[in-house]
Amino acid sequence: MKLSSPMDAWKYLPGTNCKECGEKTCLAFASLLLERNKKLEDCKPLFEPKYASKAKELAELLAPEIREVAIGVGARASKIGGEDIMHRHELTFYDRTSLAYDVWDTMAEPELRERVRRITKWRKFYVGEFLTLDVIAVRSVSSEAKTFARCVKCVAEETDMPLILCSFDAKVLEAGLKEVSDRNPLLYAADKTNWQAIMALAKRYNVPVTLFSLDLDTLNSLATTFAAAGIDDLILDPGTYPTGEGLADTFSRFVRIRRAGIVDGNKSIAYPLMAVPMTAWMTNGNQDALDASYWEAIIADTLILRYADIMILHSIEPHSLITERTLVANIYTDPRRPVSVDPGLREVGSPTDKSPLFITTNFALTYYTVESDLSSSKIDCYLMVVDADGLGVEAAVAGGQLTADMIKDTVASYDAEKKVAHKTLVLPGLAARISGETEDATGWSVLVGPRDSGRIPGWMTDNWPPKTVS
Ligand code: SF4
Repeated sequence: MKLSSPMDAWKYLPGTNCKECGEKTCLAFASLLLERNKKLEDCKPLFEPKYASKAKELAELLAPEIREVAIGVGARASKIGGEDIMHRHELTFYDRTSLAYDVWDTMAEPELRERVRRITKWRKFYVGEFLTLDVIAVRSVSSEAKTFARCVKCVAEETDMPLILCSFDAKVLEAGLKEVSDRNPLLYAADKTNWQAIMALAKRYNVPVTLFSLDLDTLNSLATTFAAAGIDDLILDPGTYPTGEGLADTFSRFVRIRRAGIVDGNKSIAYPLMAVPMTAWMTNGNQDALDASYWEAIIADTLILRYADIMILHSIEPHSLITERTLVANIYTDPRRPVSVDPGLREVGSPTDKSPLFITTNFALTYYTVESDLSSSKIDCYLMVVDADGLGVEAAVAGGQLTADMIKDTVASYDAEKKVAHKTLVLPGLAARISGETEDATGWSVLVGPRDSGRIPGWMTDNWPPKTVS
């Protein structure tokens, strides 16, 4: 994106403040455009003929430095690429790394269907959201068109996830493509030996395609050739070496390509990048599955950080999935906004008017940790969540986002007095220093809980009910 402030975008908008976009002013809309919280199409007046040249120019200026490519259709379609920055703290990363897990066409059908179902249904609750997986990569191992087509058909029957069709043989790819031509699958891959046949396929079926070469000049040349032929939905695979100096070189090539696209503005190579960490299984054949999945996760995590936009993986064991998917979730949060939950008074279990009332802040990680520690310990209680601008307890106390007055206001706002028959608050141990002020401000007795919510069960044994309940 070549715009750095809302005023830069505002200049291209009609400037009538008509509110059709749902915003009060064009400037407010411009600000949301830059944050990608609104789309250009949301400003209908801009598409009147008299604004045509402004609309075109603005669309070009708003386009991300790295092309955004969509694969799949419907609710589970994946957007890949679309980045503007090299480092997360400069703004934020947008389209999180898509994780594709493989199946192959020599699998027995029951085993194939079961693996597809596991990949499709996997989910893990983490900081307020269910993490899921993104894509299924269907590999041709048989090299037979009919076998591959049958496999793709089975996979498509079991899942609505986006698909990658993997073969270097255009005939095999086309056989699979015919089964899912309406699902916008990604082709993997064109290289210097087959590019003409794969290009024809990508054109005929209008689907995105991966270009593969270990040599960056060849990769650049392939990308230029495809773009000149009108195929812009490209993904680049510069090769993933799984060990030693090759792995270090892989890392460095990912960085070089991304820098060329964003910093040097080299459009011919400004496409999303694919990594294939499952190469760990190909060179670690003498090791056991745990070793291979461990190295696969190491490679995946390294390239999630620099700069894989999509990757093909093999292990679907929990230790792999949780590692890879959690890292993606953490990297692709917006560093400008702490991940927070709504303030309020929550019930944990089945509290009564004699149950304790714990205080915490609305930083999502803090809230879900405390809530999980309380519910897993089967402690029936109330949990009062104070709006501390999304900060954790210690930082909020230090920065003045968690104060005695804020606790007083929160207690009053959510009618805590009507929920419990006592007047005792339990402050987190990390907020001990404001316990006296909190007693003075609220008129409630204050107990100081442990610094770590995992210790609340032990703390309850010694401290609840309090000796003298106010
Ligand atoms: S719809 Fe367009 S012209 Fe109307 S207020 Fe929104 S940005 Fe401005």
